[in-house]
Amino acid sequence: MTRPYNFSAGPAAIPEDVLREAAAEMLDWHGSGMSVMEMSHRGKEFISIYEHAEADFRALMGVPSNFKILFMQGGGLAENAIVPLNLSRAATVDMVLTGSWSQKSQKEARKYASAVNVVASSEADGFHGIPDPAGWKLSRGASYVHICSNETIHGVEFQQLPDLAALGSDAPLVIDFSSHVASRPVDWSKVGLAFGGAQKNLGPAGLTLVVVREDLLGHALPICPSAFDYKIVADNESMFNTPPTWGIYIAGLTFAWLRRQTEGSLSGVAAIEARNIAKASLLYDYIDGSQLYTNPVDKAARSRMNVPFMLRDESRNEAFLAGAKARGLLQLKGHKSVGGMRASIYNAMPIEGVQALVDYMRDFEKQA
Ligand code: PMP
Repeated sequence: MTRPYNFSAGPAAIPEDVLREAAAEMLDWHGSGMSVMEMSHRGKEFISIYEHAEADFRALMGVPSNFKILFMQGGGLAENAIVPLNLSRAATVDMVLTGSWSQKSQKEARKYASAVNVVASSEADGFHGIPDPAGWKLSRGASYVHICSNETIHGVEFQQLPDLAALGSDAPLVIDFSSHVASRPVDWSKVGLAFGGAQKNLGPAGLTLVVVREDLLGHALPICPSAFDYKIVADNESMFNTPPTWGIYIAGLTFAWLRRQTEGSLSGVAAIEARNIAKASLLYDYIDGSQLYTNPVDKAARSRMNVPFMLRDESRNEAFLAGAKARGLLQLKGHKSVGGMRASIYNAMPIEGVQALVDYMRDFEKQA
């Protein structure tokens, strides 16, 4: 049986191999007689799942040894509070606004940081691009600079992370990489902290991944809840409280799956990146050449993961979605704030799924 192609922005498709592995191990994980959901997080079985997940993510993404990998709960929106609670040290927080998610981060940071400075914003142009870092008005002595490295709703992605040191700031860079984590390499030399909810590229909702440079630990504001104090979480190997064990297990299977991927001579995240580039080009090239569909994002900032597109004739939106569903192409409706359609083509989406979408879009265009 072939499954439909699922273009959901999140919770999103999980690699079929991972689902099958989890299904096979559901009642009895590796002869333990227990489902992973039934295990103590302090038992040797779960500790080994956790250690493999941590080591596989570190190896997959080349995370340097002076960074901690934390498995937390609360999702991206909780991190919007947890980051300033840990990092703001009552100093100014610099924020770059490139879409809905960075805007939400900025609003939340204002509750905890003594001051928030918007260093650049693309709001005036409808969040269709990334303001040139050379023009960012960075504060002196900022506690950190926040960006959303992939804006899931507006379909805007940083193709390179800004080099804050070269821009004259010594503040650490914080990236919300929720919707493109593990889809491409990360240049850790430019990053102080990265966070992301798992439900797009890593596994089920409920797990939040945080990768944080060690020197940023231990500066939480006194009001920071202990379970959200990165130093306490790090000192307890993500087990100060009961961690999201099922999420860590599925993410671990996904990291191992990612490490096994090859594309020509490439492997791991380089292979996945090559595939993601090919998938995105296939879809954007078709959209750009069509008479019916448009994508408004600056070509240099187009997301490889989230492709919003509009029908020039909006009266055909419902027919488009119904026809797509009938062809096994699910969850293409755009976010309500921007309308139209959105195809999220995360790591788990094979190129065949993108080809099936393009074939459908072409057939639908011809029906006009
Ligand atoms: N940041 C980004 C970039 C997101 O895409 C999302 C969810 N779509 C969030 C934050 C919020 O995540 P959560 O709902 O898990 O809190």
